[in-house]
Amino acid sequence: MFQERKTSTPLEKLGEFGIIKYLTQDINYHQFSSIIGIGDDAAVLDFKENKILVSTDLLIEGIHFNLAYTPLKHLGYKAVVVNISDIYAMNAKPTQITISIAVSNKFSLESLNEFYVGIKMACKHYKIDLIGGDTSSSNFGMIISMTAIGSAYQKDIVLRKGAAPNDLLVVSGDLGAAYLGLQILKREYEVFKTNPHIQPEYGGYEYVIQRQLKPEAPNKILSIFNTVDVKPSSMIDISDGLASEVLQICDMNNLGCRLFEGKLPIDPQTQLACEDLQLNPSIAVLSGGEDYELLFSISLKDYEKIKYQDYFSVIGYMTYLEEGAKIITKEGQLVSITAQGWDAFLKHA
Ligand code: ADP
Ligand code: MG
Repeated sequence: MFQERKTSTPLEKLGEFGIIKYLTQDINYHQFSSIIGIGDDAAVLDFKENKILVSTDLLIEGIHFNLAYTPLKHLGYKAVVVNISDIYAMNAKPTQITISIAVSNKFSLESLNEFYVGIKMACKHYKIDLIGGDTSSSNFGMIISMTAIGSAYQKDIVLRKGAAPNDLLVVSGDLGAAYLGLQILKREYEVFKTNPHIQPEYGGYEYVIQRQLKPEAPNKILSIFNTVDVKPSSMIDISDGLASEVLQICDMNNLGCRLFEGKLPIDPQTQLACEDLQLNPSIAVLSGGEDYELLFSISLKDYEKIKYQDYFSVIGYMTYLEEGAKIITKEGQLVSITAQGWDAFLKHA
């Protein structure tokens, strides 16, 4: 996990042009819509009759990621996933990305290339094209700005707005794992700092660590919608913790909701990590974040179509605004959901 030092070519040796050329060599394109990619003053795209979706993310070293326990290859992969997950959350397909980076001179060409290896892996996996970016130096570590472009037919696009009272609230996959992965990584890093000779203990935590370091974007969910012929009434990706996303959906639709604590999908490894670290799994789900799953609402009449989907969990339903955003605990208490998920919940947990 903690990388060895290999050859280290200072970035100033190549200059901006040389760096871009080195990093973006061997890039293959997957999309017909990418007419002109890296190498000109602008990229040229052709989407024919489709609508175009655009989403941008900024990632700052020390705020969004810590290079002490995040390998650069994983960071590159994750940066792409984080960015394209917003396009999937609109029920659209990501097609291209641009990446702008600023790095300080502590980075070598080889380490920056590791970051690009991760980016290219993600591009290959999700069949998207890296079509441009910008490169600059920075005085304070690494800054990454990414823009994802996607396309969809107008009729398929799903917004955060569109939910109605009694619509079911559904999530994909399981939640809270990435947050626990981060807690484990932090714990092992603290041990490493006090004694660098102690090997980190990741045994039994592979899944949660993978969810933190190498998350996947919710692409397969779109094909499930397609297969079962369901179009959600509203949708959002779960990046900041379930509580925050549920409140966004409520707010955008002027509605309330009821969630059931007992219905939150939690992987056994997440449960185990919670026991080890003495954390409440439901709090990890509500406030943790970085799940990159989807939260969506569906009309009650569509329930039959999704009820046998293992990958989906119905966690509650929408209500009228007056009823507030509430979760019913396993003990049957009705508790308000707050942006951090914590406070109100903790008192009753
Ligand atoms: P300009 O001077 O017009 O900003 P650049 O020399 O920065 O042009 O970029 C040249 C080409 O390389 C452009 O196609 C640009 O999109 C691409 N590019 C620049 N930096 C990156 C990067 N970090 N990753 C991917 N492509 C990049
Ligand atoms: Mg430039």
